[in-house]
Amino acid sequence: MNINITAIERYIRLFGLPAFLMILGLVGMAFFSSKAPATDIASAVFASVVRLLFPASAGLTIAAALWLAWNCWQLHRWECGDLQGGCDRCGGVMSHKDGRYGAYSVCKMCGGKREGWH
Ligand SMILES: [Zn+2]
Repeated sequence: MNINITAIERYIRLFGLPAFLMILGLVGMAFFSSKAPATDIASAVFASVVRLLFPASAGLTIAAALWLAWNCWQLHRWECGDLQGGCDRCGGVMSHKDGRYGAYSVCKMCGGKREGWH
């Protein structure tokens, strides 16, 4: 059995947060889509909050789905060697960070670090 830990880490790094946000949005949509009849003031207030939160959840789901698709596209281009990123090791896209010792970049594909922003 051959499990590529680096690849799993890469998938988590690329797809973990968008997938989490998408699930959050879907749960929100399912939760806020229930239409209980407003019988008292509390449920009437809740109903008007739900009217705002449902499109917010839907928007979050769509945004997360687009982000996920974008990361899939980036990964595909990287696997084909078309991605011109700042990483010395693999040519992946780097995310810019500020550390204790100044600016540095972390590769989104292989996790390699470099000084400065690339
Ligand atoms: Zn890299």
